[in-house]
Amino acid sequence: MGPNMRRIAFIGLGAMGKPIAERLLQGGYDLTVFDVNRDSMAPLIAAGAREAASPKAAAEHAEAVFTMVPDAPDAERVALGADGVLYGIQAGTYYIEMSTIDPITVRRVGARLAEAGAKMIDCPVGRTTKHAREGKLVLMIGGDAADIDAMMPVFELLGDTYIRCGPLGNGAATKCINNYVAMACNAISAEAFVIGKKAGLTPEHMLQVFGSTMASNAQAVQVYPQFALTGNTEPGFMISLGHKDLRLAIELAHRYDCSVPVGQATMDIMAKAVEAGLGRKDCSSLLLMHEKAAGTTVRLKGARG
Ligand code: NAD
Repeated sequence: MGPNMRRIAFIGLGAMGKPIAERLLQGGYDLTVFDVNRDSMAPLIAAGAREAASPKAAAEHAEAVFTMVPDAPDAERVALGADGVLYGIQAGTYYIEMSTIDPITVRRVGARLAEAGAKMIDCPVGRTTKHAREGKLVLMIGGDAADIDAMMPVFELLGDTYIRCGPLGNGAATKCINNYVAMACNAISAEAFVIGKKAGLTPEHMLQVFGSTMASNAQAVQVYPQFALTGNTEPGFMISLGHKDLRLAIELAHRYDCSVPVGQATMDIMAKAVEAGLGRKDCSSLLLMHEKAAGTTVRLKGARG
């Protein structure tokens, strides 16, 4: 592949995959798509992408194959399952794993694809679906440096920050650690907003302080005003995915005998939220759980919900 690369396959067209795939289409690439949910493919097909019947079929004519599916077993199924990418991909083709999964799975898939002559890069993304639409994601990239160089023209359509993390799997490890921190910030912020409200503070006031002190974190000052504090619980980034990412990070920690007291507490709260039926809500919806327990609501002025 080189500057003339045109044919891209994209597998997994959900909240994050769809806007990324749309940018590739808008960038002029010849796009083939696959998703187990046909409804997810429809907007891309309407915009000019070709529909494939399986990951194998999607990979057959592609010069680069991208995947953006929820969890490690999904990613492994797409790559190595029956009718998986492995059985369609040609030698020399790039395989870009963008899903947030663990580094062990990434390296296992990479080794199998390498037997078919494919070149795997792991490239999970940071920030939000809005950033994906705008081509302003953070890309955490692992793999062979020359392979990454070759893919940079495509990556530049998708992100504005590229972090080269080292060999294959290091992008995934970086992302796991990143979300470990992000979800802990999310959980503590939800608690803080409710405590502050009960103590007589407004969310406007709390945001102003959080935004200008050592308490500053993007969950509180960017995510909450867009989502829970305005009554908007549509994801964004779903609680069930945040819960999955904590699981991945904690499994990684156990593998290296690292202790996880704060991570475990965060994971327990996220699990409780999933049990309470909030799994498909935005991560900031942890606020709703604390509001209910405390008998209050925390909303910005003019919020609809
Ligand atoms: P999503 O559930 O909205 O979308 C996942 C898509 O994958 C769905 O359309 C689903 O039908 C499809 N899919 C599932 N299994 C499949 C399979 N075997 N073959 C083909 N398609 C399959 O999830 P999302 O929010 O798009 O997240 C995708 C990945 O991106 C996750 O790993 C998530 O952690 C990561 N991520 C998401 C965000 C975000 O803000 N949404 C941010 C950063 C990273």
